Amino acid sequence: MKDKLVIGNWKMNGNCEENQRLLAEALPELAAVTGVEVVVCPPFPYLAQVGAQLQGSPVSLGAQNVNAKERGAFTGEVSVPMLNDFECRFVLVGHSERRTLFGETDEMVAEKYAAALSGGVIPVLCVGETLEQRRAGLAENVIVGQLQAVASRVGGEAMAAGVIAYEPLWAIGTGESATPEQAQQIHGHIRQWLAGQLPSGTASPRLLYGGSLKADNAPALFAQPDIDGGLVGSAALEAQSFVTICRVA
Ligand code: PGA
Repeated sequence: MKDKLVIGNWKMNGNCEENQRLLAEALPELAAVTGVEVVVCPPFPYLAQVGAQLQGSPVSLGAQNVNAKERGAFTGEVSVPMLNDFECRFVLVGHSERRTLFGETDEMVAEKYAAALSGGVIPVLCVGETLEQRRAGLAENVIVGQLQAVASRVGGEAMAAGVIAYEPLWAIGTGESATPEQAQQIHGHIRQWLAGQLPSGTASPRLLYGGSLKADNAPALFAQPDIDGGLVGSAALEAQSFVTICRVA
């Protein structure tokens, strides 16, 4: 069994002083958490600062996005080799905010996943449906489509090397998380789809739940058989909330 995994996605929040304070409070407590791998994803300009503060702690560094190209005339973009320079172990790809606000398509997300894998950074593939899609009974289809786009690019077996985060769009930043049953239903479906992609005997990648994950709803969500951890947004900006979520994972 792989360890549970909890990733804090800071989004476009923080500054040098707030980052320092947050980690100074959280890290001593996170050092005492066992059986759970913990990652924080600060905005790009703070990778060096946060990386330095994580030195000697069990918490790993991640990034929120990446460009699939290695270098060149791509103003404003950041590559996998650059993430490696800062010892980022994980990178989010296809977060719904990237897809909806910045026009990332399934194909672009698949390229990012492929680039991260070949550069040795673990891609965390984010998938999820909108409320309209859920109401129309399309949630599973949408999610399998998002997964399939990546599997078609990298091969089904390569899905084992990443992490998958199920984040229903209607639960992100809304304060209304999926119920444990709703989340488990989708996670079970993803697990089943994965079983059809991976050679038998291959360990399944970890499946994270994200979307208004908080200290109070985390225990019931993490108790579900196919939820292997969480991708935490706003609650990751508050040291005690984040520590509690990591502890109950
Ligand atoms: P939230 O964000 O926890 O603030 O809902 C989760 C995410 O978008 O990763």
